[in-house]
Amino acid sequence: MKIDVTEILKTPGAGMSFEVEGDVRSPEEPEGSQVMGAFVVRGVATSIGIGVYVDAHATGTVELTCSRCLGSFTKKMELDSEAEFFENPDERLKEDPQEVEVFPLKNGVCDLSEMVRHEILLNLPMKPLCSHDCKGLCPVCGANLNEGDCGCDRSDSGVTVFGRKLLSALNESERGKKNGRS
Ligand SMILES: [Zn+2]
Ligand SMILES: [Zn+2]
Repeated sequence: MKIDVTEILKTPGAGMSFEVEGDVRSPEEPEGSQVMGAFVVRGVATSIGIGVYVDAHATGTVELTCSRCLGSFTKKMELDSEAEFFENPDERLKEDPQEVEVFPLKNGVCDLSEMVRHEILLNLPMKPLCSHDCKGLCPVCGANLNEGDCGCDRSDSGVTVFGRKLLSALNESERGKKNGRS
């Protein structure tokens, strides 16, 4: 997922629009999530003489693991991202601490995958759910309840004493709200 900005680099202020496509993957992904599939990145690169400023919009799909039923599912993502690319990112950061991320520019080429990956990681849900009403796993046998009922008696087993207290407290407060009390 690379763009060659050699042409605009010579002229500060010059811009070029681009559209690239590629896989975004990383070994540093948080447990249980995998960034996969092709991301399409569209945007504009503007020369700042010694580097470029990139403003991009990325769309693609990531594969995640549901935190409730442990099943994997895909999620469409749409992200806006901006960054700067410099031959020597560390120097750039030293002389002018940036609010945007700075990535390396190699031989006039920006590799956008790192920039997109950063943005994806920032936007991944903390507790991914395959659907809002995911039924999760049976606490007795571990079956995925989205795939049908396993027939276990879950009325008692699996629910701890604390869990029951918590549930009844929640129900109480729900009733309170409905009656106009808080
Ligand atoms: Zn689920
Ligand atoms: Zn079961």
